[in-house]
Amino acid sequence: MIGIGIDIGGTFVKFFVLNDRGNILHTEKMETDYQKGADGFIEQLSDFINRMKIQHTGQPIAVCVGAPGAVDNQNGVLRYNPNLKFTDVTNWPIAQLLYDRTGILPRVVNDATLAAWGVYETDLHRQGTNVLVVTLGTGVGGGLILQRELYQGSNGTAGEIGHMKIADPQTGPLCGCGARGCLEAFVGSIGLKRRALQAAAENPDSLLAQLLPADDNFKIEIVFRAAEQGCPAALRVWEDTGYYLGIGIANAVLTLDLDTVVLTGGVSGAATYFMPALERVLKAQTFKVPFERLKLLISKNPDVGGVGAALYAMHASSK
Ligand SMILES: [Zn+2]
Repeated sequence: MIGIGIDIGGTFVKFFVLNDRGNILHTEKMETDYQKGADGFIEQLSDFINRMKIQHTGQPIAVCVGAPGAVDNQNGVLRYNPNLKFTDVTNWPIAQLLYDRTGILPRVVNDATLAAWGVYETDLHRQGTNVLVVTLGTGVGGGLILQRELYQGSNGTAGEIGHMKIADPQTGPLCGCGARGCLEAFVGSIGLKRRALQAAAENPDSLLAQLLPADDNFKIEIVFRAAEQGCPAALRVWEDTGYYLGIGIANAVLTLDLDTVVLTGGVSGAATYFMPALERVLKAQTFKVPFERLKLLISKNPDVGGVGAALYAMHASSK
């Protein structure tokens, strides 16, 4: 069997073709093309699938599409996605549109959920029974493996840890989703920027303040570089990141009695600086047992989303 994973992002689309032994046979990457509208975009995805059908004639092919945003996984519909700049994509029936053009009905799943499956198969080799994977990037996504199966919830939205409230929703910081007090508003890229600018303003002589550009061209990498040089203000930003992440992860562990939590995504590269504070939050919990046994790991594989999509396509179709 051949698994095709298509990871749709706001800027890039990544294609992964794997065989059922988990070997990557082929990858492609293209910029998300807004020129020809949503229909033209579907044509591009269909072209890829049809090319792979010809290349792998005679073999069964399973396809899974990962999309950021709210996915109706039962019907293969992308309900809503703020990061895709097509004007006409509310309730977008991706599965049906691709089926009409390729004859293969793909699964459509939230991208962070598929990243969780990718981590479960490639990093954990299916070790662990109840696993949360947190994707730390521009946004904060989450995916769950419960009882060794991908758990998508009642509506396909399970694992949205980024929008868990860790502060007062009346007065907490504003999140990209429009609400206040979400975990993402603290540790997503917008939250990190807000706290870094605040730290620089409070410590105008710090290296962090010197490295931050005068224009709005903030990059998380700057806070990372300042921390590497030992800048206390930057180190504090990462320490607070670990503290807030720890609150969110502790809430998830208390709810689900997880045995493994894996952090992935760009920001997890700064783990050296935020892990000690995160671990302190977990250690301070009064319900000791689930936290004593919890495995906390970092995945540095940048392709878990697309690889997870291809692997999940094959796993789900073999059930
Ligand atoms: Zn939110």
